Amino acid sequence: MDRGEFRNEPFTDFSKPENRAAMESALESVASRLGTSYDLVIGGEHVRTESSFASLNPGRKEQVVGRVSKGTKEHVERAIRAASQAFHDWKRVPAAERSAYLFRAADEMRRRKHEFSAWMIYEVGKTWPEADADTAEAIDFLEFYGRENLRYSGPQQVTPVPGENNQLLYLPLGVGVVVPPWNFPLAIMAGMTSAAIVTGNSVVLKPSSDAPVIAAQFVALLESLGLPKGVLNFLPGSGAEVGGPLVAHPLTRFVCFTGSKEVGLHINELAARPQPGQRWIKRVVAEMGGKDAIVVDRDVDLDQAVQGVVASAYGFQGQKCSACSRAIVDAAVYDAFLTKLKDRVDALRVGLPEDPQSQLGPVINEKAMKTIEEYIAVGRKEGRLIAGGGPAAETGGFFLKPTLIADVEPKARLAQEEIFGPVLAVIKAKDFGDALRIANDTEFGLTGAVYTRDPQKLERARREFFVGNLYLNRKCTGALVGGHPFGGFNMSGTDSKAGGRDYLLLFLQAQSIAEKVGG
Ligand code: NAP
Ligand code: MG
Repeated sequence: MDRGEFRNEPFTDFSKPENRAAMESALESVASRLGTSYDLVIGGEHVRTESSFASLNPGRKEQVVGRVSKGTKEHVERAIRAASQAFHDWKRVPAAERSAYLFRAADEMRRRKHEFSAWMIYEVGKTWPEADADTAEAIDFLEFYGRENLRYSGPQQVTPVPGENNQLLYLPLGVGVVVPPWNFPLAIMAGMTSAAIVTGNSVVLKPSSDAPVIAAQFVALLESLGLPKGVLNFLPGSGAEVGGPLVAHPLTRFVCFTGSKEVGLHINELAARPQPGQRWIKRVVAEMGGKDAIVVDRDVDLDQAVQGVVASAYGFQGQKCSACSRAIVDAAVYDAFLTKLKDRVDALRVGLPEDPQSQLGPVINEKAMKTIEEYIAVGRKEGRLIAGGGPAAETGGFFLKPTLIADVEPKARLAQEEIFGPVLAVIKAKDFGDALRIANDTEFGLTGAVYTRDPQKLERARREFFVGNLYLNRKCTGALVGGHPFGGFNMSGTDSKAGGRDYLLLFLQAQSIAEKVGG
């Protein structure tokens, strides 16, 4: 099956009436399916548990998006055993056949693109373009990893040794536990899961409790393509109750996690402790939080910088690991920048994400809303509130006004801790060097951007701005599969570079085979 070269899935242009109509009809069709029940899937068997939990629409808190069976410790045991059993056959399936599952899944997801996006609009409050980008990224991961798997399964270069016939093979690891976050509930979930599966591993997927329904849609898609039973097991449930035991299980060979620093570090520690009967050191891929900065130099097109900062800070309500949460601005343009920025922020429209006019939807849940409001209260003390500052006019969900706090000190909590909401701290820098120093001075190192016209400063940023994903004269969100392999430094994670050529190696182990030939 020749798929040709990898190309990113284009975003949908919703200014075209036919595209708007298609999304509207997808929203209607998904609306008629809200409230459906979803089962655990263990070894191909659908298991409905007595206790279940509801996934709610954060924009209409009374609306149940789906009722989801709730796994327990006992299901952990069954799911890991089912995955372990399935691994024996799956690892022997030819690589091209495994890749073909991803390609077919990509085709099907492309065909039902707006439907997948609509689920995210309801389940996590993404606006149309944000949901569309999430689905496009999921398609990209399937297409990209499908091709990458073919590359890794092909002949690998080794230095010739006289008298020997030598070879290097990449083998899968075994049972993987995949634990995604809710904020890219399709792209990241499908990316981690498909990378693990395509390389010949089997998986137990524990979705985020805030986004289990979109994960269930993906699992159902792979099921419909005839993926062998037990290769992908679906185990929703609480992070502590199900996630912990999955990570700790002696048959678990690796863990692929994306989420908060706190949970990532806990998983890393738990996985490091060998259990009775365990025969390997578990591998942990953990992608975590950020405190990403955009540096605005004095030699700059202010409008362009303001536009990049607004898109990076408030896209999906600031709930991206890559979101700009610090704007670090040269004192020479600080006041002018703030004035323009405030105007843009005040003009942002907050509303129900089903409405294509909305630029910001709700934050994910009540707990997030409270935490963000607490940070805003801290920000009022640590800096000067100049836009937003509390709940938005839209009621019925967790809506916050996009909030802007100026004059924040580099070491203030607002400048150091991940808030994960529509709150931007603006920090004044003496000059470009000072700005870079401030930018690097957190425990994180995920994304960062610099706006300047000065090529020498761009060079300096390349050398000194220590982040996994650096952007020059553009926003710091919206990494594209293939073009911008994604992953952070320091406490932002293990720098796995999702969507890059090194990523699948994390799911493989290499075997060297040397055969003596001739005399
Ligand atoms: P989270 O609270 O850490 O949860 C992530 C996942 O871990 C969820 O599936 C959660 O399940 C599970 N979990 C919770 N406690 C666990 C435990 N004790 N053992 C095993 N699993 C456990 O993160 P989130 O709120 O979903 O996502 C937001 C965070 O993700 C932010 O910090 C953001 O920066 C980060 N993020 C990073 C990247 C990146 O690429 N670096 C990308 C996206 C997001 P429950 O839902 O059941 O609690
Ligand atoms: Mg929800």
